[in-house]
Amino acid sequence: MGGVAALFNRLSENTSSSPPAIILFGSPGSGKGTQAKLLRHCVNGPHISTGDMLRSHIEAEDRIGKDSEKLLKAGRLVPDEWVNELVEKRLAEPDCRMGVILDGYPRTLNQARVLMDLLARSGFRAAVIHLMVDYEKIVARLSGRRQCPVCGTLYSLKTNPPKVPGICDLDGAALVTREDDSEPVIRQRLSEYESLTRPLLDYFRKAGVPMFEINGAGAAPEELSGQVCSLLQSSGVIAIANKTAHPRASVTT
Ligand code: ADP
Repeated sequence: MGGVAALFNRLSENTSSSPPAIILFGSPGSGKGTQAKLLRHCVNGPHISTGDMLRSHIEAEDRIGKDSEKLLKAGRLVPDEWVNELVEKRLAEPDCRMGVILDGYPRTLNQARVLMDLLARSGFRAAVIHLMVDYEKIVARLSGRRQCPVCGTLYSLKTNPPKVPGICDLDGAALVTREDDSEPVIRQRLSEYESLTRPLLDYFRKAGVPMFEINGAGAAPEELSGQVCSLLQSSGVIAIANKTAHPRASVTT
């Protein structure tokens, strides 16, 4: 047996005691990074963001950083092999043993196939959180986004501004605007998402990966992460700490 059916069988062999691999899925600006940070209270494992990893390499001015910089500035995806290798190495680190939260990976069919194979082999159980947000809201969100270069906290000028303009509430660092948060680049990122990433939803469905559809603009970030956490617990993806019902979200498999 080969293909998606074989993969499904291998994923199903991983039981409820297997560590969860929570895949935060959605367009740029759908809130994956914010949710990943909030979900660390619920999922016992690190937040793995391929975007953050690539930006660290750019800062370090190493080979992968130099090769990636232009692509990130242009809002284009970097080649699959680079991110596949980064994620494979990261997942092998000891802090991933209890679970992981993946943010911004996988983004292409090739990445999804590599990841599902890796998760099946390493004994993880995958689940997808699909954050759905209207594209026009996204352009407004991303153009008003500011980030702390020190601790990574994200702010929104409109909905979640820092207490002192331009300064991080947590460590006092001057906030920065990401270079790819200008409107033309945001539109390019959305177009990459539409053509290369969105089709993965179909792949996940066929592979039988549990998928949770969340209205990413339906509530404040903390409330959304509470909904996501409850769904993950009530569906048995992660161990139950405290159960609450959240009527605005739904699960499909
Ligand atoms: P966003 O989800 O808002 O686009 P990220 O920080 O996840 O922000 O990604 C920023 C950029 O990093 C992307 O536009 C792309 O250039 C690159 N990138 C991140 N993750 C991947 C990936 N899995 N595959 C290819 N390129 C990636």
